[in-house]
Amino acid sequence: MTVSYTWQVRKMLEGLLTKEDCAKCQLCCKFDSYDLWQTPVIYPSLASRILQEYSPLCRFIKRDDHFLMKMQREPDMDLYYCNLLDREKGCIMGDDKPFDCEIFPFRVMELMGRKVLTLSPACPVVNSKKFEDVCTAADKAAGEIFEFASSHPEVVKPYLDDHPILVVEKSRYKGSII
Ligand code: SF4
Repeated sequence: MTVSYTWQVRKMLEGLLTKEDCAKCQLCCKFDSYDLWQTPVIYPSLASRILQEYSPLCRFIKRDDHFLMKMQREPDMDLYYCNLLDREKGCIMGDDKPFDCEIFPFRVMELMGRKVLTLSPACPVVNSKKFEDVCTAADKAAGEIFEFASSHPEVVKPYLDDHPILVVEKSRYKGSII
């Protein structure tokens, strides 16, 4: 499967979150057993690139037509670091990050059969920004994100009520008032 992003989204999010912020924080690159559901979806083309260009020892768990990364539990801790995290410098993937990581701290979720763009409470940098600015960025990025999620339903997570809803996907059907 070929996955292509046009990633206007990246530019919109860069106004909220710099690469340096992410390299310093790294919170979204480590997981405990309760939030392993947040590990990024990896498509076969990206899995090949990871093995060839970034991390030859990376191992994956197969799910239908995509993969999840197999992460090692830290000794004596309920903690898993992403294999693609350099603990000094941050993510090694540069502009090749998986979709879930590109759009973080936004998350696409499903609520009552409708896709919603939500804000993860876990990102200290974006959560310190003015909420209006976050909503403006979400509004601009939503179209591209929802379009990608429509053809890649595995990136859509069940709604969690600690995630504020920023944008609700508009109905695709003519005549809808939403
Ligand atoms: S791929 Fe990069 S950004 Fe995503 S969780 Fe791993 S280290 Fe973090």
